[in-house]
Amino acid sequence: MALRIHDSKSSDATTRFTWHAREELLLASYATFSIRSDGRKVEEALHPYRGPFQRDRDRILHSAAFRRLSGKMQVFTGDMGDYHRTRLTHTNEVASLARTIGRYLQLNEDLIEALAMVHDIGHPPFGHCGEDALNECLKDHGGFSHNRFAMEIVERLEQRHTSMPGLNLSFDVLAGQQHRSNKQLLPGELTPTLEVQVVDAADSIAYDAHDVDDALKLGLISFQQLHRLSIVRRSLEHAGATNPHLPNERQFIVHALLDLQIDDLLETSNGQLSQLGDLDSQAVREIGLLLRMSATIESEKEELEEFLFENVYRHPQLMEVRHRAATRLRQMFHLLVAYPQRLPKRFQTFIQQDHSSELAVYRAVAQYLAGMTDRFCDDAYINLVELGRSQAEDW
Ligand code: MG
Repeated sequence: MALRIHDSKSSDATTRFTWHAREELLLASYATFSIRSDGRKVEEALHPYRGPFQRDRDRILHSAAFRRLSGKMQVFTGDMGDYHRTRLTHTNEVASLARTIGRYLQLNEDLIEALAMVHDIGHPPFGHCGEDALNECLKDHGGFSHNRFAMEIVERLEQRHTSMPGLNLSFDVLAGQQHRSNKQLLPGELTPTLEVQVVDAADSIAYDAHDVDDALKLGLISFQQLHRLSIVRRSLEHAGATNPHLPNERQFIVHALLDLQIDDLLETSNGQLSQLGDLDSQAVREIGLLLRMSATIESEKEELEEFLFENVYRHPQLMEVRHRAATRLRQMFHLLVAYPQRLPKRFQTFIQQDHSSELAVYRAVAQYLAGMTDRFCDDAYINLVELGRSQAEDW
């Protein structure tokens, strides 16, 4: 089980666990074991001390698209202060929650971390309104979805080697991200691995909780409104809020919301997983196991999401930002489709590689715009539309 390797700092050989031996010791049978990974499009030799999913995580971490998440809004824009989450800090919160859940359930944390870090990498500038604007621009050319764009980023746009496009991620990570594009299972399709399901759950738990925090801080919602929601009252009770001041402490409410949802998910999942015997990951997918929270928490969570939709995501202050961003993206889109020579060289090359078809132009323009951070998008608008300059800076 343990590998004896030479420690360069001493003359003695030191005993260390290999990544696969560590997984044999710590993971449950239903986890996705790195050693049984489905491999990569371009085969690579195994690394001596990093498992395949650790390497996936590192490739995502070092990609330009991942760094750009720091400049992309989650819900609130940069000119609304510096307290709230960006797409990057949201991603980090998802990864942290998902690893906590995964470790408890003895799943593969390395795979979970890679999946969490890549899950929002395809978001265009200005969140869902950016996505809606690009989707509308591409309505006759296949549409646009941030989940599909994530696949284009990791399979084509990021360049890690001169010999091949993309990050050459494992098929396990690609399949997990692909699942996000489909959302609903196609007839005959297996349920995703438990690691994918944990990241999906952590994403939803994270954004519901942190959107409450950010909206409170920005004064878009009040404690009084929140206390009317069943899940908030239950969370406070669950967290033992006997101190009369705590129910009106922003961060306490957020932690209470996280704890309640995660405790509930773990308890329900534990019940499901303890009945599996020694089924492996593939067998669990074949029986169609879906990790769930209890019906009570699921319905109370729905009530919270409806509240956030009405009172936060549709808030006039946000709607104005969204409207402006969508208008700018549409204007840039139509201008660049009419004058693709104003795109950076790299995207012009993509168009030539695809025989300069109309579809190739539309897709290249959408890829260029979708890769931008919010600030870069604003600057590009001034350069392209207001000043009539070409975009010299590459993606
Ligand atoms: Mg997310």
